[in-house]
This record gives sequence, structure tokens and C-alpha cells, in this order.
Amino acid sequence: MSLRAVKGMKDILPDEISKWHRLEDAFRARAALYGFREARFPIVEPTALFVRSIGENTDIVEKEMYTFTDRGDKSLTLRPEGTASSVRAYIQHNVQALEPVTKWFYVGPMYRRERPAKGRYRQFYQAGIEVFGDPGPYVDAEVIDMVVGFISSLGITQVEVLINSIGGPETRANYRDALLGYLEPYRSELCSDCQRRMDANPLRVLDCKVPRCSEIAADAPSILSHLVDADRAHFDTLQKTLTLLGTPYRVEGSLVRGLDYYTRTLFEVLGKGEGLGAQNALLGGGRYDQMVKSLGGPDTPAIGFAMGLERLLMAMPSEPDPTHVDVFIVAAQASVRSEAALLGRELRDAGLRVESDLRGGSLKSQLRRADKMSARIAMILGESEVENGVVQLKDLEQKTQDEVSRAEAAKRAKAILG
Ligand code: AMP
Repeated sequence: MSLRAVKGMKDILPDEISKWHRLEDAFRARAALYGFREARFPIVEPTALFVRSIGENTDIVEKEMYTFTDRGDKSLTLRPEGTASSVRAYIQHNVQALEPVTKWFYVGPMYRRERPAKGRYRQFYQAGIEVFGDPGPYVDAEVIDMVVGFISSLGITQVEVLINSIGGPETRANYRDALLGYLEPYRSELCSDCQRRMDANPLRVLDCKVPRCSEIAADAPSILSHLVDADRAHFDTLQKTLTLLGTPYRVEGSLVRGLDYYTRTLFEVLGKGEGLGAQNALLGGGRYDQMVKSLGGPDTPAIGFAMGLERLLMAMPSEPDPTHVDVFIVAAQASVRSEAALLGRELRDAGLRVESDLRGGSLKSQLRRADKMSARIAMILGESEVENGVVQLKDLEQKTQDEVSRAEAAKRAKAILG
């Protein structure tokens, strides 16, 4: 059997890449507007990093990680998300000693062995941001406003912004009791994972995807009615600030999200337009005030989000693909092919994107290739052109042709291209 890409992992070929560039460039530009700077982390991390941050009882850690033992007998894992690495790097480089508030963004592939579906892959790309050192709630609102504005700038207009608060440790302890009281009578109806989770971390039951578990979770008491005063005030101010910023949102008390490290603010943006199907979560984020400390760093509040780039691309309106060639050089005879290569270099040195068919071929077939590549200009070079230091310049859109000197060729091409 021929070799194929790993199930759930996709090739991204050049015909698709301009959309990716458009999205990534727009994200970098938006992040810069808000003072975020890019950081890049290794794709492979010690397994313990994810177990300790994402949490032992989460789907990611229990079922989805690509974990392997390397030749030095270390357990390593392909990163399933970016926050854990950000926190590890923040601690490792002692960043809190350098600045009171740190704003990073990242873009890169993540790995989860989930069941592949439309919009759900085993290698997928995330773009995310992290803010360290600001306890909120104003920065929470700014981060949500930033990402909602970003998504709308991509032309994705049909979205729903969900926010929730799961409070801090005190709220969680109160709520745990209430939730366990509610879940106990259903214990035997829950899936075996959830039965185990009830003892380890009952909040995880609310996030289970098994249909009967979701049904039971739907009627569970809301964490919002258990927020202690400080958590309640944090959430109220977040909402007031979002309202002032004009960011639409809906409070969704059942939003808990699948990672253990969150505290207080949680948010998710769902795409409501066509094309996304069931996997319509465009991004998820939240506050993780305990994580830096729990991984051995200083007590540092933090908030972040991660967006799935494939899903954003599916939701973005399509645009015609830009051409990748400005000038196509046609060698009229085999004897001028070296000269055609030289002309190519001259034009490229002037900043033009140049293609040619150095294999040769008939004039007609070379011009057909120029057309196929949507080149705006063809430059035809034959023996007499080489002798006279000129080229025949064809504007393939205006369907005009004239002779220009070799020295002027790049300038003329640029004038046509605008
Ligand atoms: P999470 O890290 O689980 O909070 O996910 C953040 C975002 O990443 C989601 O809202 C999705 O847009 C995207 N995402 C998560 N898992 C996948 C996946 N397996 N395939 C594609 N996108 C994903």
C-alpha cells in the first residue's frame, strides 16, 4: 500500500496557502495593535507538563495525547495546546522579574488523537494569546473584545460569544458539594469515565460528550449561583466593561471547558454560519490564575485564548486567490534559454515574481503556461531580441504587445502591474 499522511493530519498545499497567510498575517497585525509579542515553543514537551496543567481527568490527558518514550527513556508528548508551554517558558525564563505584565502570542500546530471529523483533526493549528500578571477583570474584557473584533475583521459575522465564570477555589469548593449532591442519584447512569470523575473532579462531568451524561449535566445546578462575593464582583465588572465596549455576549452558565486549569472567566466563540458543521467552536479561552504557581512559578494571574485556524478558515468568506507570478518569460528558441535565465534573474533582482519554462517547448505552449499561471505579463525573448538588447513585452490582460529595451523591462513591467 502506498504511504499516506497519518489519519486526521492534513497536507496544506500551495493552492490553499494564501488563505492561511491572510489569516496568520491578520492575527499578527491584530496582536501587535494590542501590544502582544510572538513567542515560539517546542512542539514536544515533557509529558508531566500537560498532565499537571491540563489535568489528569480531562479527555485530552486521558485519551488524546500523543505520548512516546524517547531513546533516553523520557516520556515526551506532542503538545495538545499552547498554554502549558507558555507557562513553562514564562517560569523557566523568570519573565516575571523582567516586566509586571507579559503579553505573548503564538501560532502553531497542536496534536490531539480525537476522532477525526469535519473541523476536527489530529494535527490542527492554533493561534493564541496569553497575558501574565494582570488579575483582571478589565483585561479579561479587553482580550474578549480583541478576539471578537479580530473575528469580525475576517468577515466572519455570524458568531455567538459565550462567557461564564467558574470562580476561584472557594467558589469551586462550594459548588463541588452542590454538584455532587445533584449527580449522586444519577451515578449509575453516568459513563464509567464520569463515575470516576465524580470522585476526582466532578466539574469534568459537565464537559462529557457522552449523550446521557450531557443530558444529566444539562439540569445540574449552575456554578453562577455559587460564586463567592469577590468572584461575583469580578464577573459583574467584566460584563459591564464588555457592554461599554459594545461587545455582544451571552452568559452561559454551563460553559466549563475541557481543561482543569481555568479559574473565574471562561469564554468561547461559536460560529453560526454555514460551512462549520458540528465543530463550530472557533475559539476558547479563560483565566488560569493558579497555574503558574502550581507549576512551580510565582503566584501570577493569567488569561488567554486559543483559536482553531482550520475552523476560522472554514468560516471565512472565500476570496479569489492572488496570482503568484508577475512575469512569465518565453524563450522563443532553444538557443536563448541561458539568456532567458539571465533575464529572469534581472527581473527578480528588481523585485518581480518571475516564472519561465526552462524546459523549452513551443511558443504557444509557453504562452499557455503563462496564461494558466495568471501572469499579467509575458516577455518573449528570441535570438534577434538578445542581439538587439530588447524583449517583446506582452500585457496578457490588455492584449497589447510592444518592444522594450532590456534595461527598461523591469520598470515597464512594474508600471503595468501598478
Ligand atoms: P481548546 O484548546 O480545546 O480550548 O480549543 C481551542 C480551539 O481550538 C477550539 O475552539 C477549536 O477551534 C480548536 N480545536 C480544538 N481541538 C481541535 C481539533 N481536534 N481540530 C481542529 N480544531 C481544534
